[in-house]
Amino acid sequence: ALSKRDSITRIGNRLGVGKEADVYHAETGEGEHVVIKIHRLGRTSFRAVKDKRDYHKHRQSASWLYLSRLAATREHAFLKALHEHNFPIPVPIDCNRHIVVMSLVDGYPLTQIRELGDPAKVCNTLLSVAVRLAEHGLVHCDLNEFNILINDDEEVTVIDFPQMVSTSHQDAQEYFQRDVESLYKFFRHKFGLDEEIQLVEYSEVKRTEPLDVVVEASGFGEKELGEFESVIQTHRGVDQEQEDVDAESDSGEDGEAEAGSDLSTRGSGNDAEECIDNEGFQATLAVTEINGQPEEQTAQPPTNEPIAGVQRKMTSLEISQKVRKQRQKQAKKQASRRNVVKSEAKKKVKSELAEGAFWGYD
Ligand code: ADP
Ligand code: MG
Repeated sequence: ALSKRDSITRIGNRLGVGKEADVYHAETGEGEHVVIKIHRLGRTSFRAVKDKRDYHKHRQSASWLYLSRLAATREHAFLKALHEHNFPIPVPIDCNRHIVVMSLVDGYPLTQIRELGDPAKVCNTLLSVAVRLAEHGLVHCDLNEFNILINDDEEVTVIDFPQMVSTSHQDAQEYFQRDVESLYKFFRHKFGLDEEIQLVEYSEVKRTEPLDVVVEASGFGEKELGEFESVIQTHRGVDQEQEDVDAESDSGEDGEAEAGSDLSTRGSGNDAEECIDNEGFQATLAVTEINGQPEEQTAQPPTNEPIAGVQRKMTSLEISQKVRKQRQKQAKKQASRRNVVKSEAKKKVKSELAEGAFWGYD
C-alpha cells in the first residue's frame, strides 16, 4: 500500500494532463519527491461522441474507474518489469486503485527542448529503446516527444505505458513503425537530422526476453483485457493531439500553477471532473465517449498512412501540414468543450485527496 512510503503527505504542482491521466508532483511523509499519476481513462470524455448506440452500449459495460484501475495496474506492471531490466523509465513505487506512484524524473518533455548538443545521439538512443522494448516483446505505442523526458545531460527517460502492447498483438508491427516514424519525423523537423538517424526495421528485431508474457500474467484476465483494449486502442498515438489541446487551453496558466498547490484552483479545461460524478464509480459518460469517432480518426495520419517499412522517406511536408491544421482545428473545438467545469466534482476530488481517501487500503 501507499502507506509503505508513509503515504503521500503533500500534493504539489500538476505536471501534466494527458489523454488519460492527471499527473502531480507529490511528496511522501519521508520527504521523497514522487509523481502520482491519477488515471482517468474516461477523461477524454468529449472526444467526439457521435454514435449514440455506441454510447449506450459502453455505458452498460464499463465504468471509468474500473478501466482506470486497469490502466494503472497495467502501467505499474510494465514499469516494474521494465525497471528490472534497466530501461530508462521512472522507478515504480506503488499502485493503488487508479493511481500509480513513481519516481519524479529530473527532466523536461522533449517537446519543450529547443536545443540539443547531440540530437542524433538522443534520437538513436530512443530508437534503440524502441528496439530493446521489442526484443523484450513490447511496443510502446505512444513513443513520441511528449512521452520522453530529457535532462541537462541529455539522458532520456521514457514514460506513459498503459497502452503498450505485446509484440504478439496483431497490430504490433504497425505500432512499432509508427513509434519509429514519429521519432524520425520529430528529429528531422526539429533538429534537421536525416542520414544520422539509424532507422530500424521491425522484421529485424529479434525477440529475446518475453516480458510481455510476464506482465500479462501478472495483470488481469482475458475479459478485462478485451474491454480495456477496446477503449485504449483509441488512445494510441494520440498523445500529441491531446497535448496540443492542453497547450492551448492551459497556456498562460502555467505560472499560476507553479505558484500554488491547491488542487481545486488549477486546471480549467480539465474535463476530468466529468468523470468524478456518480460517487466516483459510474462515470459512464466519460468512458463511453472515447468511442465512435470516425472524423477524428480520419484526421490522424498514423492510422491512415500506409506504413510500409520505416526505411522509406517520409510523406510530403504538405500532407503533414494539412493534417496538422485539421488537428489544430479539432483541438480548438475540443478545448472549448473541455472548458465545461463541474465545481461539485472538483470539490469532491479535493476533499477525497484531503481525507487521504485515495491512499491506503484502510
Ligand atoms: P498521459 O497518459 O496523460 O499522457 P503521462 O504519463 O504522459 O500521462 O504524463 C503526462 C505528463 O506528466 C508528462 O508529459 C510529463 O510532463 C509529466 N510526467 C509524467 N510522469 C512523470 C515523471 N515520472 N516525472 C516527471 N514528470 C512526469
Ligand atoms: Mg503522455
